[in-house]
Formats: sequence, C-alpha cells, structure tokens
Amino acid sequence: MSTEAHNSPDRAAAQRIVLRLRAHGFTAYFAGGCVRDELLGRRPDDYDIATDATPNAVRDIFKSALEVGAHFGVVIVKMDGAVIEVATFRTDGPYTDRRRPDSVRFSTAREDAARRDFTVNALFLDPSPEVAGPVRQPERGAAPAGVVHDPPREHRVDGGLVIDYVGGVEDMHRRVLRAVGNPDARLAEDHLRALRAARLAAKLGFEVDPATAGAVKAHAAELGGVSRERIGEEVRRMLDHPSRARAATLLGEMGLASVILETVPGSGGGLMHLAGLPAECPWPTPLAAWLLDAGLPADGRAAVARLRRPLCLSNEEGAALYATLDSLARLEHEWPRLSVAQKKRLASGAWFGAALSLMAIRRASEADTVTKEVRELSAVHGGLAPPPMVTGDDLIRAGFVPGPGFKRLLDEVYDAQLEGRVRNQAEGMELARVRGV
Ligand code: ATP
Ligand code: MG
Repeated sequence: MSTEAHNSPDRAAAQRIVLRLRAHGFTAYFAGGCVRDELLGRRPDDYDIATDATPNAVRDIFKSALEVGAHFGVVIVKMDGAVIEVATFRTDGPYTDRRRPDSVRFSTAREDAARRDFTVNALFLDPSPEVAGPVRQPERGAAPAGVVHDPPREHRVDGGLVIDYVGGVEDMHRRVLRAVGNPDARLAEDHLRALRAARLAAKLGFEVDPATAGAVKAHAAELGGVSRERIGEEVRRMLDHPSRARAATLLGEMGLASVILETVPGSGGGLMHLAGLPAECPWPTPLAAWLLDAGLPADGRAAVARLRRPLCLSNEEGAALYATLDSLARLEHEWPRLSVAQKKRLASGAWFGAALSLMAIRRASEADTVTKEVRELSAVHGGLAPPPMVTGDDLIRAGFVPGPGFKRLLDEVYDAQLEGRVRNQAEGMELARVRGV
C-alpha cells in the first residue's frame, strides 16, 4: 500500500478526532470511501468517521461541532483546518419514498456496515497506532457472501486495523463491487445505488458483481422515480471523471442510460466521443460527448431543451452545453466560409476549446487545420479578442445616439479592427462616421 495515501493533513485531523472520541470511551473508526481508497493506495477525497457516540456526545466533546444532519446522526467537526463528518453508527429505517430512509436509529458498527451500499464501501479502519491484540479472523465462509460477519474479520494494514463485517476486503482483492446483503432489496430501497454502482465500478476499475448488476438491471426503469437533482449529481460526477467512457458503458449495459437520457433503450451507438476526450476536460464537455454518442440531437438548443429537466441542469450549464454544441456545429459546417472577424469571434468564445476537442474526435484533420488557423489568427491584428479601440462611450461622446443600429455599428467597427482594416481609434471613429450615417 502506498504511504502517500496516509500522509494528508485531513487524515491526521481525522485520526485526532478518533483518538479524542476513544479517550472519552467511545468506539470510532474511519468509515466508507476513505477506507476503500486507502486500501487501494489512493488518496481519499475526504475522511468520514463513524462512532457509537451520539451527535450530542460528539458536540459535547468538540465544541466547534456543527450539526448538519442531526436527523441522520451526522455532525461536522473542524479540526486543524480539516472538515470531517462524524456520523453515529445507525440503521436506516424503511425507504418509503425510495430515496432516503424515513428515519434512522442509532445502532452498532455491524448494523452501520449493513446499511451501506457496497461491501468495499462498508469497511471500517481503526487508525490508532496502538491497536493491539490478536487479529480476529473468523473462519472463511463463516457467513455466506452478502451476509454480515459477526464478529467481523480484521486485517492489519499499514494504516491501522481494517474491520470487515461484509467481506469487503475480499471483494477489494477480487476487484468486485458487490451490494451489501440482498442486492435486489438494496436496489429496491434506493435506486440511486444503481448509478453509484456504475460510477464507482468505473472509477475504481472494478467489475460489478453479476447478482448486483442483475438487480440494477431489474430495477433500472424505477430509477425514474429518483429525484432529478440526485441523478444529475451522480451523472456529473461520473462524466467528470476520466473513467467516464467505462461508466457510460456500464450505464448502457445495465439499462440505465436510456432511463437517464429518456431515450429508447439501446438506441445509442458506440462511445467514440466520450472515449476520445482528454482525461481532464471542463464540464459539460463530457455531457455533450455523451449526447453525441447516444445519437441525441446535436443541435444546441434541442439538446438543452432535452436534457435540462432529466439532469436538472442549471442555467449556466445549459448555456455552456448550448455554446459547446453550437460552436461545434459552426466549426463543422461554416468554418471555411467565415470571415477573419467571424473566425476570431468564434474562436474566442468560452466553449470553443471544448467544441474543438469534440471536433478532433470526429474529424481529426479538419480540427488540425482549424487549430493551425486559430494560432495564425491569434498572431495578427491584436489577436483573437483585443480590447475594442472604439467603445459605445466613444460613439456617444462623438454624438451618436444609442438606438437600433448602434450595436451593429460597434460590431462593424470591431470587425474591422479584428481584420486590421482599423488600426487605431481615429480610424475606428472615421469608419463609424462613414458607416453610421
Ligand atoms: P466517492 O469517493 O466518490 O465520494 P464514496 O463511497 O465516498 O465515494 P460518498 O457519497 O462520499 O461516496 O458516501 C460515503 C459513504 O456513505 C459510502 O462509502 C457508503 O458507505 C455510504 N453511502 C453513500 N451513499 C449511499 C447510499 N445511497 N446507500 C447506502 N450507503 C451509501
Ligand atoms: Mg466520499
């Protein structure tokens, strides 16, 4: 295991919290994604702690504690500049709205492991350096797969002692994402887990266990009942990650893509666009890529109208998606016929780079030509988007009256500047006078 995974200020802060809780007689562990990531040698995004201390007890110990979800037993503790979630071990009540448990009951580590979604997410880690005593290792197969082991299996690792109630360590070695408990029941309980399965399997490079994948498939249509905010958020996280093409493949295989995009099942083609994007690319470029792969309308306006609701896109995201697809369409259909000024205006748009990266996947040599041309255009007549030599204020001072035609006149003068026909303000004003009457 890499030690880099254990050397972060967040980890040190989380460890201090665990030790402090322990000093007060409570049990406390690192829990969930951070344990999984450490075991994989990845640096966790954040550290979560699970404890048998109630939220009130946690607040008594950490005066700065902030109650964010006391209802769910979650308290935020700030320690040495880190922000750590401390959650009381709990059992989730029934899910009548299929999204969130109606209620939670504070319980034990074992039950807390059992309520978690996937076995590799249900591990605890005791990080205290002085953990002593023999490692308890119940007989292999003491509990059938998917059933809780009690007592838990314990594994000594670099960062401490892993406490495994659900066979998560074994699944980690097999690189399998498997639902805790009965996959069918767990998927029926919270359909968002279907998306989490695709996202996490892709991100971790794991396979989805066949029984879990079967349950995801069986419940795929019911994903429509999950709030669009939650779906949108998962899709964002999925497509933002370099493993996006794998995630989209899994969504397709498990029958989820068509539910998310509200398309006919199996209507998508390959994943050329998603797979061809650079690892790091600004959101919503991957969304545009996925839409092109799914064979949805590539027209910007139609795409935004289509996806805004299903993915709960913000106005800003909608505008960016529109700009990306619109720039792409103009690049592919109009570029050679555009004037120098039009090319410069298009190339200086915020989402032009995104559009060009999509074009490079579809028409590599044409995209190369555009890239070269843009480089040349950047070097002439002040570059792609120089500050205008003549502004609206300049025109007003010279006696022009704002009204219809004012903006057009400004644009015309600016275009002339972009093309080198106007080289200073005097020439710009002269052109405005000639054209403005
Ligand atoms: P990531 O690294 O992408 O954040 P994560 O596993 O840490 O993945 P979180 O959403 O941060 O995901 O959740 C933290 C932990 O809470 C998970 O590891 C899992 O144990 C539990 N969890 C999260 N969402 C669910 C869910 N829908 N059902 C059951 N358990 C969940
Ligand atoms: Mg997390």
